[in-house]
Amino acid sequence: MRLKGKVALVTGAARGIGESIARHFAAEGAFVYVTDTDQGNGQQVASSLGSPGSFALLDVRDEAAWQQLTATIVETHGRLDIVVNNAGITGFEDGFVPHDPEHATLEAWRKVHETNLDGVFLGCKYAIKAMRATGEGSIINISSRSGIVGIPTASAYASSKAAVRNHTKSVALYCAQQNLKVRCNSIHPAAILTPMWEPMLGDGPEREATMAAFVQDTPLRRFGLPKEVSAVAVMLASDESGYLTGTEINIDGGILAGSAGAPAQ
Ligand code: NAP
Repeated sequence: MRLKGKVALVTGAARGIGESIARHFAAEGAFVYVTDTDQGNGQQVASSLGSPGSFALLDVRDEAAWQQLTATIVETHGRLDIVVNNAGITGFEDGFVPHDPEHATLEAWRKVHETNLDGVFLGCKYAIKAMRATGEGSIINISSRSGIVGIPTASAYASSKAAVRNHTKSVALYCAQQNLKVRCNSIHPAAILTPMWEPMLGDGPEREATMAAFVQDTPLRRFGLPKEVSAVAVMLASDESGYLTGTEINIDGGILAGSAGAPAQ
């Protein structure tokens, strides 16, 4: 029960990594606000947590919704201890559109940044305001390996995740300057098997081979699991990590430790 008595809000928690984080937080004793734009799945996740929790419809791009929900949480519980800014999109949700630096449209570029970057900016802003109720808290921003290296075919995604990495550090330093015990850290996953990958993997006979191809340069040679991300989120959310702020943790099967160009022997 490493999060006993804490109140948490997780965005994009109707499935994938966010769902896993919500479940793991609840198992560790937190009251979890499962939030998402997907009301059906989000409500199902919230009602199956097996501990107190609640679903709230939250589009992370909507400032008024952030303001209202965080105010309601503080009014209800007197605190908001943990905010996980997890909701994110690749830009390929509605099929292929060019996302390389030469052919991406301004509209497609902005759409990705609105959710991945503006959404995290708003999440941090209202987390800080809500955490002033106790002066303490943990903000966890889900960036990506793509926020550390360039991705020519998904440049808006990579740019938005790089901005999340940097904004995390500004938030951490600001909170420290303000004498708040509010920590802010980023997690950088790579190739975690969630529904986000389904359009790329398909369910035909090629699936196994496609999966193997995606992870051929990953030292551990497999996809990661959502629970391998949520385990780290629990650590960052708990008081065990009280001296960790402004830092980044890669969960990537080792891919950022070296380069595909390195000699094998
Ligand atoms: P996912 O399976 O696609 O789940 C994302 C969830 O976020 C969905 O429920 C989605 O709802 C919701 N969402 C999308 N836009 C939203 C918005 N504007 N406001 C609120 N909720 C919104 O994704 P995932 O793989 O779990 O990824 C979670 C996070 O990890 C993302 O930030 C992603 O970039 C990052 N990440 C993932 C991987 C990976 O390999 N999976 C690697 C690196 C980083 P709808 O279905 O209604 O759109």
